[in-house]
Amino acid sequence: MILPGTPPPIKGESLNGYLLRLSELNGYANLPQLLKIAGYKGAPYWYKPGIGDRIASLIGMSSDEFKAMSYDRGSKASSRTKAQIFGHDVSYTMLDVTNPKICPACVVDNGYIKSEWDLTSFIACPDHRTILLSRCPHCERKLSWRRPGLLTCACQRPSGRFLNQVNRL
Ligand SMILES: [Zn+2]
Ligand SMILES: [Zn+2]
Repeated sequence: MILPGTPPPIKGESLNGYLLRLSELNGYANLPQLLKIAGYKGAPYWYKPGIGDRIASLIGMSSDEFKAMSYDRGSKASSRTKAQIFGHDVSYTMLDVTNPKICPACVVDNGYIKSEWDLTSFIACPDHRTILLSRCPHCERKLSWRRPGLLTCACQRPSGRFLNQVNRL
């Protein structure tokens, strides 16, 4: 099986952001529901050899291409574990993939989640001069990779879009 809607990833797009975009585009309730098809439980996705290949074929991507976009924290997370971001090795400890943060204005402008937002130290958007959003302005819960869409929180309130809450610097 291949998902009906599989636009290719955009340069600089984070893998989990890409998977979330595909999940929303193909009408899944949330990212875990999409990953479950390939036998992966929960979200965010961290590289797992066999399952990675299954997700890659589900979204019509080569295994190598998919692995290059993945973060691999190995069997035990440690500062020695490397992740690739923009083709550079960074230490796993420099990433915070568990607590996603976004610039909603960028997502509206560009339609994708940037991989630099996965870096722990990246806290503001230089283009929009805003602090990245890490909590839903409506329910105040932390943003999660289990949310239904790029700009929709799990609280799913009709007005549950993030754009009206942009913290100008
Ligand atoms: Zn921005
Ligand atoms: Zn919410």
